[in-house]
Amino acid sequence: MKISDKEICSTSMGTRVVWGGENQTNPYNATQVPISCSVAYGYDDLDEWHRIALGEDPGYIYTRNANPTVGVFEEKVRVLEGADATLALASGMGAIANSLYTFLKPGDRVVSVKDTYGGATSLFLNDMPRMGIDVTLCNTDDYRQIESEVAKGCCVLYLETPTNPTMKILDIARLAKFGKAAGVIVMVDNTFATPILQNPLTLGVDLVLHSATKFLSGHADAMGGVVCGNKELIKKIRHYRDVHGATLDAFSAYLIIRGMKTLKLRVETQCANAFALAQYLQQHPMVEVVNYPGLPTHKNHEIAKKQMRAFGAILSFSLKGDIDAAKVVLPRLRIAHRAANLGAVETICGLARTTSHVECTPEERKAMGIPEGLVRVSVGIEDIEDIIADFQQALSFLK
Ligand SMILES: *Cc1c(COP(=O)(O)O)cnc(C)c1O
Repeated sequence: MKISDKEICSTSMGTRVVWGGENQTNPYNATQVPISCSVAYGYDDLDEWHRIALGEDPGYIYTRNANPTVGVFEEKVRVLEGADATLALASGMGAIANSLYTFLKPGDRVVSVKDTYGGATSLFLNDMPRMGIDVTLCNTDDYRQIESEVAKGCCVLYLETPTNPTMKILDIARLAKFGKAAGVIVMVDNTFATPILQNPLTLGVDLVLHSATKFLSGHADAMGGVVCGNKELIKKIRHYRDVHGATLDAFSAYLIIRGMKTLKLRVETQCANAFALAQYLQQHPMVEVVNYPGLPTHKNHEIAKKQMRAFGAILSFSLKGDIDAAKVVLPRLRIAHRAANLGAVETICGLARTTSHVECTPEERKAMGIPEGLVRVSVGIEDIEDIIADFQQALSFLK
């Protein structure tokens, strides 16, 4: 008999990623989770159908609301984040927007920080004001400002850590405690850390969000999102999603499930590679700054050490010569995609000014501490000697 999802929660992460959510018997005794493409599920017994439709019995009715393949993905993430409940959505932004709007109405207020993912920032700056929702974005390291804004009254405190692309770390336990005491819903985007490195629910937050498109999937070939929390909050977001339609499709769910089985292996290797690349870049004479929370010189290193199991797969750096130097080096990398995504098995590089902060002016980026030539690197699972040798040859063109 397969290990139950209750027992799975007492195993370690490497076992959970493989077996979480997989204790059901599949059709034909298939060992692998099937892709259930059916839009609807049929019933001869009208009373059974009615009970399932009411949610009194388990089962499936219509795929916008629930689907067996998507359900396995939700259960796998639930087990990894130690959540009571999870809900899958069509993308990371689907998870963010649906989770926020479920709890907001005109006249409400959100407090967040300036360094959030570009899509979230755009919701805060462009979308919410139009809906009559007041948003205050605090300086990311300024706990006094964040706490005084929360104390003024708000519905949601929205956080992200590590942040994109400057890799700042927020003290989750401290802000969760403050937010809870003020009676607000505290949300954390955990995409960069993954459940392997940090579990914000255990640090006291209410909702944890992921872009499953990134590390969970790991292969840059499927989009998805997920939100984790208690049953009551997730039920509300589920109702919102069911009528707004941001449902994850079964094929993407299948790809993400498959990718997740190697999540721990990938993230561990990627963290070790990122650490080594950060150290290499930091001592390079042409490198101006390296932002990586694992470096003792990083200003949030101590908080990172306290709340993360390792320091993540993402770093950013700038060069002496800024954007002109980046234009020399980046095109010469041979083992890296120059692309907007992150969290895949391949090393991926991109300029903040082209990816996360494309909508800002150079002055706005400067004010956020983002040089024009800031390069974000999502370090892959390639052998580290090859990654470093590749950066070395590309950087040699600067001389
Ligand atoms: C990519 C990303 C998102 C958005 O996810 P999509 O799946 O692209 O919608 C949200 N937060 C972070 C931190 C991300 O990197």
